[in-house]
Amino acid sequence: MTLRPQKIARAPLVYALLALSLVCADCRMMEKTEDQNRTPSPNAAAGDPRSVHARAISIDMHADTTQRLVDEGLDINARLDDGHLDSVRMKEGGLDAQFFSIWVEPQLYGGGGASAVKRADDQIKAVRSLAERHPETWELATTAADIRRIAGEGRLAALMGLEGGYAIDERLENVERYYKLGVRYMSPAWSVSTSWAGSSGDEVGRTRGLNDFGREVIREMNRLGIMVDVSHVSDKTFWDIINTSQKPVIATHSACRAIANVPRNLDDEMLRALAQKGGVCCVDFYPEFLEPGWSEKKKQVDREIAGMVQRASDEETRSPAWKKIARDRVRIREYARRLPAVTVSRIVDHIDHIVKLVGIESVGIGSDFDGIQAVPQDLSTVAELPHLTEELMRRGYKEEEIDKILGGNILRVMEEVEKGTRR
Ligand SMILES: [Zn+2]
Repeated sequence: MTLRPQKIARAPLVYALLALSLVCADCRMMEKTEDQNRTPSPNAAAGDPRSVHARAISIDMHADTTQRLVDEGLDINARLDDGHLDSVRMKEGGLDAQFFSIWVEPQLYGGGGASAVKRADDQIKAVRSLAERHPETWELATTAADIRRIAGEGRLAALMGLEGGYAIDERLENVERYYKLGVRYMSPAWSVSTSWAGSSGDEVGRTRGLNDFGREVIREMNRLGIMVDVSHVSDKTFWDIINTSQKPVIATHSACRAIANVPRNLDDEMLRALAQKGGVCCVDFYPEFLEPGWSEKKKQVDREIAGMVQRASDEETRSPAWKKIARDRVRIREYARRLPAVTVSRIVDHIDHIVKLVGIESVGIGSDFDGIQAVPQDLSTVAELPHLTEELMRRGYKEEEIDKILGGNILRVMEEVEKGTRR
């Protein structure tokens, strides 16, 4: 009899598998439990990061692999030889659930209108089709209970978050439309402000928060059960969201300004407000948001390689999406050559900072994989995710704390946001 890697969904099975695990030491490591708070298996080797990692339900709040599905037509159910994420490497890395970013780049698809809507819809179709084509591996999840069940069956949960509210096209009814299509979080703006929400990435965002329509959007998200994501919004928008949302608010892929002072990160006052609302800051893996000074060095490198990037773009004759891929390939190569390496230890510095400031309940992970042009050298793809758990354990984090960081805190927020909705 072979045991498949599983998170056990039913109690009698727990005991049966525990008994089996006594005679199957190799299988033991892969055993997973559905209940985060369950007492660790007596067979678990205390202090073994691999087994601690394998048992936890791990949820990554942000990856841009979605655009690869659409633009490159990739099937991520097989191992890819590039990029950061596919199902094979997800299983190797013990990641159970992935929020796929439905990202509409306004420069290419508009900050609203038919082409922004189409771009979002194409990505949603691609994620849904991934789950439909590979039901043995994937299932589309929309609730915390879905994630627990799918992980319990040893499969992968695919979830969706809308990055930037461009695709709602300034129409409130579209928020519900995206909810019905399966979207479970939305950030009001990416790097370009909308008319109703300021971004941290442009000039106008410096003074723009939410207007009346923006506040209506937040209330509609609360009503439906869509988590509000503050990653990318301006400071003013952040505070307007905090003051408007009746439900916990999350940052799906940001880190701490106290360590790396960039506008995309949250300062301590913001982290306190997020925690007070029961929210979670999911730490991004991008060196620019992790390493002090990296952002300034990157700007210098961008100037140095501007010609190279432009040439790659010019030489690519296919769609604007392919031109972007060509530009990013040059950046990936040159950043690796010219910018300082960052390690997983720096990610844990940010986790530590949040834990010390506001407690263990308010931190998660949001890799930004396949959307970033540089990665930590020892967490260069999702397959290396266990290195994060190793470093957490090296610094003294206990198993139940690691469970919360890897996914438990997000499951709690999802359950809270799902409460009182019309489902
Ligand atoms: Zn982003």
